[in-house]
Amino acid sequence: MMSKTHLAVGVGTALALTQPQTAKGCCLAIIGGILGGMMPDIDILDNEHMMDAIHGQIIVAGMTAAVLVMDHFARWGVCKELFSRDPMLLIWGIIAWIVLYGIGIPQPHRGFTHSLLGLIAYTIPVALILPSAVPCYVIGFASHLVMDLLNKRNIRLLFPLNWGFCFGVCYANKAANQILLYTGLSFSLIFLFHRFFL
Ligand SMILES: [Zn+2]
Repeated sequence: MMSKTHLAVGVGTALALTQPQTAKGCCLAIIGGILGGMMPDIDILDNEHMMDAIHGQIIVAGMTAAVLVMDHFARWGVCKELFSRDPMLLIWGIIAWIVLYGIGIPQPHRGFTHSLLGLIAYTIPVALILPSAVPCYVIGFASHLVMDLLNKRNIRLLFPLNWGFCFGVCYANKAANQILLYTGLSFSLIFLFHRFFL
């Protein structure tokens, strides 16, 4: 699927499955959902939709920064948790993030970063930096794998085994992609509006 769909469904699935009752919980669902939802597509060098993947990464960085700035001023609690972490854990988390990012970029598309092993590896930095975001991050990551499984190109879910899996029920950039995008987006907006304003 395309980047915006992975972001919208990542957040929507994280909100739906964790049902956050607080502003902090909603922030964690947004940050975890978009980071996890977009992380598998860091294998951009072999991605036929390379520009779309890069746009997705930029949106993730912008949205994460925006949520953290709002959290900082509104004191919802995400920044408080971040700044109360052991600095060594933060440093190790950032190092792990950079190393894993570097490993992921040149990978064959839909290989390691789209596998269960990749899910475990790419969760390590989040667990070190912001543990409370891990459930939403894992949900977002898993939603990406499930949506890509629907397409007509294999993902190597059991990497390093060479087996590829796909259900082949839809294309990554056609009607199903649009339906999932608007479903994820509208559910997320309604949920967040309800939590914050009603
Ligand atoms: Zn993907």
